[in-house]
Amino acid sequence: MKQEPPLVRDLFPELVAELATLLEEEGEHWLAICVWDVRMVAECGCGDDFCQSIRTAEHTPGQPYGPGHRCVPLLPATGDLILDVVNGRIMYIEILDRPPLRQRVQP
Ligand SMILES: [Zn+2]
Repeated sequence: MKQEPPLVRDLFPELVAELATLLEEEGEHWLAICVWDVRMVAECGCGDDFCQSIRTAEHTPGQPYGPGHRCVPLLPATGDLILDVVNGRIMYIEILDRPPLRQRVQP
């Protein structure tokens, strides 16, 4: 059985709490619930200093998401947080110009 990637909320609880709050403020109640269950499939990997984006679903980089895709830009106090959502599923969390993510120390 393939092991599931880790939950983003286990790695970056503060980030997920902030995303959930911002999504509620945007009226995205469904996504505010879903964001607690997204998994860290991979880092963005673009190598840009200002980018800490997270892939939360399997998707071939560079390919269009196709129909059902929408962007959900949020309004954080600093930097940019933008979700890519396809048919209600969070595919990608764009995290730009943000202070370094604080990873919870593993016990
Ligand atoms: Zn990137």
